[in-house]
Amino acid sequence: MEFRLDGIVHINYGKCGIGKINLELKPLGKCSRCKKNEAIINLAYARQRLCKDCFNDFFVNRVRRVVEEFRMFKPGERVAVAVSGGKDSVALLHALKKAFPEQDIYAFYINLGIKYYSDHLEKKVIELAEMVGVPIEIYNLKEKEGYTIDDFLLTKYKNKMCSVCGLIKRNIFTTLAVRVNADTVATGHNLDDTVSTMMSLFFAGDFEGIARLKPVLKPLIKGQPRKIKPLITTPEIEDLYYVALNELPVQECGCPHGEFTPIKGMKKWLDEMEKEQPDIKFRLLSVFRRKFIPLVDRGLGEEGVEEVRACTVCGMPSSSEICSKCRRVMELMEIKERRGEIKMEITFEELERLREKERVVLLDVRDRKEYEVYTLEGAINIPADEIQKRWKELLKYKRTHKVVVFCNAGRSSYAVAVKLRNLGFDAYSLKGGIISHIQP
Ligand SMILES: [Zn+2]
Ligand SMILES: [Zn+2]
Repeated sequence: MEFRLDGIVHINYGKCGIGKINLELKPLGKCSRCKKNEAIINLAYARQRLCKDCFNDFFVNRVRRVVEEFRMFKPGERVAVAVSGGKDSVALLHALKKAFPEQDIYAFYINLGIKYYSDHLEKKVIELAEMVGVPIEIYNLKEKEGYTIDDFLLTKYKNKMCSVCGLIKRNIFTTLAVRVNADTVATGHNLDDTVSTMMSLFFAGDFEGIARLKPVLKPLIKGQPRKIKPLITTPEIEDLYYVALNELPVQECGCPHGEFTPIKGMKKWLDEMEKEQPDIKFRLLSVFRRKFIPLVDRGLGEEGVEEVRACTVCGMPSSSEICSKCRRVMELMEIKERRGEIKMEITFEELERLREKERVVLLDVRDRKEYEVYTLEGAINIPADEIQKRWKELLKYKRTHKVVVFCNAGRSSYAVAVKLRNLGFDAYSLKGGIISHIQP
């Protein structure tokens, strides 16, 4: 984020190009609240234009009100906050501490072992916890459980990475919260996340799923923490404003496994609707929460809720003897046992040896111009930001070739190689990029 002399705030989220957001906040005249400072944020649904200070107050007050209205926690209780390093959980931790300075707040971060991503986020969240003044516990998946999220590229879940990852994160957050005797686990789900998920589940006919999106979810097993969503009425964009205006440490790159999910499509659709009806997201949340969920809950009451017991491996709630997280991890460990560690990166020397004995297609994911100036012999060019649209051009190599992806330094090529593995290609990333070849 940077301030310019003409009063424009330039927000740059996702520097490395994956999940990039660029925003400009322009001066909008006098602030509707203090009538003194220059407003920079327009809240169309509230018919207000706010300056930085008034926006911060507004944001923190809303978090306080939601916590109190839904009785999310009481004074003296321990609140564990699941921090990922993304804008939502970063804003949540900061605002929660501002709204409840006396509360016993405890932060968790799970290092998922996603290359070029998780370690970067770990630094950010440690910096954040220090700044906010709360203790933080780092849980390293590789060290603690012997696998990483990247390893799931070896399994049949390679094209469902986000759902496996979500399952594992939820399970571990609850486990950690139980261990430190937390009364609640707070997550950064915002208004847009909640409403778009509700709509997607609605179209899929999963009404029980919608009922699980309450602001407060009671534990399925006695003694476990309840789950709360203090940002459930906070629009997604405002988390970004809050993080940028307060210069909080936040992730600079998107996850390489990020995929286009139905939820993202639904978000776009809601954003379009919002242009006509600025309060549409709030109204949908209210209809689901006040009218629809009570109806589903009553229906479930008659039929009887699915029986829940404790997983025999991890002790977390499960509908069968072993929970779905533990089952997926067991599947992964079996495959790792047979095939060894996952290999995503190869060096230039390994590439040369590989080309002697196997059919290899080289994929240059740098810009067209860079490709035209210099590339590796025989390489084809699809720039990294066009992969989503153009990966089908590679289909003809899928069964016959290994795909070796390269860029300048080996970072965006890694993300593309991951994406191609998600899609079922035998893809690798050239370690150190083309630079490693030019300057050995
Ligand atoms: Zn103001
Ligand atoms: Zn389990």
